[in-house]
Amino acid sequence: MEPLMSGLIDPFNRSIRYLRVSVTDRCNYRCFYCMPSQGMEWEERSEFLTFEEMTRIIRLFTELGVDKVRLTGGEPLVRRGLLDFVKQLHTLPGLKDLSMSSNAHLLGEQAQALKDAGVSRINISLDSLDPETFRKITVNGDLQPVLEGIDAALTAGMQPVKINMVVMRGLNDGEIESMLDYAVERGADLRYIETMPIGEAGIAGTDYYMPAVEILSRLKEHLGEELIPAKGGKGAGPARYYQVSSGPVRVGVISALSRHFCDDCNRVRLTAKGDLVLCLGQEDRVSLRDGLRNGFSDEQIKAVILDAIAHKPRSHEFNDDNSKVSLRHMSSLGG
Ligand code: SAM
Ligand code: SF4
Repeated sequence: MEPLMSGLIDPFNRSIRYLRVSVTDRCNYRCFYCMPSQGMEWEERSEFLTFEEMTRIIRLFTELGVDKVRLTGGEPLVRRGLLDFVKQLHTLPGLKDLSMSSNAHLLGEQAQALKDAGVSRINISLDSLDPETFRKITVNGDLQPVLEGIDAALTAGMQPVKINMVVMRGLNDGEIESMLDYAVERGADLRYIETMPIGEAGIAGTDYYMPAVEILSRLKEHLGEELIPAKGGKGAGPARYYQVSSGPVRVGVISALSRHFCDDCNRVRLTAKGDLVLCLGQEDRVSLRDGLRNGFSDEQIKAVILDAIAHKPRSHEFNDDNSKVSLRHMSSLGG
């Protein structure tokens, strides 16, 4: 094998520095745009990587130049042993930034411990501030513990706390403005997300599609001022950020159906069963679990990772009629 000289560079000269790790496909909520209404076929738990196996893979990624990891799900807080896993990850010398995505239902009691263990930032899903609408979207969710979880993350000093609102016409678009006021009051960042056609549930969600430009023009009207693009507001992620008044709060919009973010893509995803998924909007994936459970050395697993990155697709295909992502569920990918 060739010695690694310059980290993970894909065929389009993009440097891969960011790994999103889905620790479970399970969730305590059933958001209708994420989980199919007839229920999910869960992976067998024995199929999941153990936390020891995940730690090993993440260590190898950090040795290859990844310095940013986000833990996601399903809902990461429903997997037992998560706190000890976070503590393990925090000891990896190459890992500079450890964050999490959560629905916050179980966050109230865990936020401080997670922050102390090394989770510095958190993204929290919150699609409505109205208990009934919240329940309608999440199917079995409960707004109050989520609001308490958000406050606990802020009190624990996670910075930033980012709220993610999937905006759906006719369901919660009447709350675009009140959600902004809620975030500004708390000093939380806010991102408005267009529905993405991933899996059957995601495709059903696009019936309520509301384009980012419309969201932006509503915000402009609400604030009575032009939205100023935030400094560094177009990073490697999919969101474009704007400053609200003089700051510090930023709002972002994530427009999945335009391809604008693919050129700067710096990320790959690891599923709970150890598949390395190269693009959110493509089926390409490589099992890392096979090598792991067949006694591969660190160097052999790194070679599998390098080979996979050499096949990272250029962009997603959300706009193509024959896109194959309809086969997959967002809940097993973690967004
Ligand atoms: N359970 C955690 C949560 O809800 O934040 C983490 C996993 S969840 C899959 C990650 C993000 O994906 C959430 O913000 C959720 O709203 C978003 N998401 C799921 N399905 C989506 C879809 N079809 N379109 C747009 N966003 C979606
Ligand atoms: Fe669960 Fe998050 Fe999917 Fe909602 S969006 S069902 S909270 S994984």
